Amino acid sequence: MGRVSGKVALVSGAALGIGRATAQLLAREGAKVVIGDLKETEGEAVVAEIEAAGGEAMFTTLNVTEEASWQQAMAAVQARFGRLDIAVNNAGIAYTGTVEQTSLEEWRRVQSVNLDGVFLGTRYAIEAMKPHGGGSIINLSSIEGLVGDPTLAAYNASKGGVRLFTKSAALHCAKSGYKIRVNSVHPGYIWTPMVQGLTAATSDQLAARQKLIDLHPLGHLGEPDDIAYGIVFLASDESKFMTGSELVIDGGYTA
Ligand code: NAD
Repeated sequence: MGRVSGKVALVSGAALGIGRATAQLLAREGAKVVIGDLKETEGEAVVAEIEAAGGEAMFTTLNVTEEASWQQAMAAVQARFGRLDIAVNNAGIAYTGTVEQTSLEEWRRVQSVNLDGVFLGTRYAIEAMKPHGGGSIINLSSIEGLVGDPTLAAYNASKGGVRLFTKSAALHCAKSGYKIRVNSVHPGYIWTPMVQGLTAATSDQLAARQKLIDLHPLGHLGEPDDIAYGIVFLASDESKFMTGSELVIDGGYTA
């Protein structure tokens, strides 16, 4: 019996990186998994991997910034599985820039994916979970939602927003008696396409990677599975007394 057996889970941004590892682990632990992403080819590949391992999964095209896209994705989840128990609002984008370097357009693009996407995903998850006796919502923030970085003005703002939005939603759900828990996860640097892209943009990639490693007292970057294990814990009943909490998985970065 898996830790989330029989549950239905939707993971946004599950075609790559942390979302992909999370979708695969949720499936290994018995959940039926919906991969929601802009990238159809990569998303369908994750579905194929899960099915090849004996699990159940489907892909739905999802742009987390668009309300109509959430409505379509939720309709697809209901049509296939008839319920939603776990929502992982994972889709996010990186952007490097100080406050002086960031244009209003870039600022809005980052907030739109990282903050609007989490807001809409949480709202639609609550609507889907309420009639079926509750559920668990997990929002991806970051160490950058806990401490400031001069070069990450827009990203800092979005991830700090996710942290406190999660607490507000958690209190609302608890006080409304919905049996829906809402928690945030705060990864350190994880070796995913997002971080690979950041280092690839520099002239000395090895040095850039080492600079990131040096920020983590454990002496290495995290792997997507390191975060997936925390997310599955928050998705499962093992964390049934946790809501509005922040799970920091960062190799000691913020210690
Ligand atoms: P990634 O870039 O490797 O993967 C992100 C996925 O999100 C991709 O599949 C992409 O297609 C999808 N996506 C992007 N915009 C989307 C949109 N508008 N609608 C739907 N899907 C969209 O990223 P990752 O490193 O796996 O990061 C996942 C989450 O974890 C993000 O929220 C990120 O901010 C957060 N995070 C990552 C790190 C890290 O070091 N990698 C650290 C802290 C927090």
